Amino acid sequence: MREDHCTRCGACCAAFRVDFHHSELASRAPGGVPDALVVPVTATLVRMRGTDAAAPRCIALEGEIGGAVRCALYAARPSPCRDFAPYAALGIGDEACARARQRHGLGAL
Ligand code: SF4
Ligand code: SF4
Repeated sequence: MREDHCTRCGACCAAFRVDFHHSELASRAPGGVPDALVVPVTATLVRMRGTDAAAPRCIALEGEIGGAVRCALYAARPSPCRDFAPYAALGIGDEACARARQRHGLGAL
């Protein structure tokens, strides 16, 4: 059975600001990110709630980091989340993944 590293991690959802273009919002693109889960940054950029806190944690992240986690809007998650460390679930991390994990006391993949 393949081990899914991301569902036992979640560190990147609690490490960085998650900003994206407002065209990805549900109000503009059916199936997009629910508008209530973001805050405005500029006229065209929005940010996942919780990700600009001093101790960031995306509002959509459920579970315990380093334990069992899930994204409550996985199918509708925004592009930065889709693009982040694309091979991490297969056990192949990158520098940003390693930085996020390090912030939460987890070793690099
Ligand atoms: S991409 Fe890296 S930091 Fe993010 S959940 Fe997966 S293993 Fe953790
Ligand atoms: S939307 Fe989902 S994948 Fe993206 S940061 Fe939030 S919890 Fe993580």
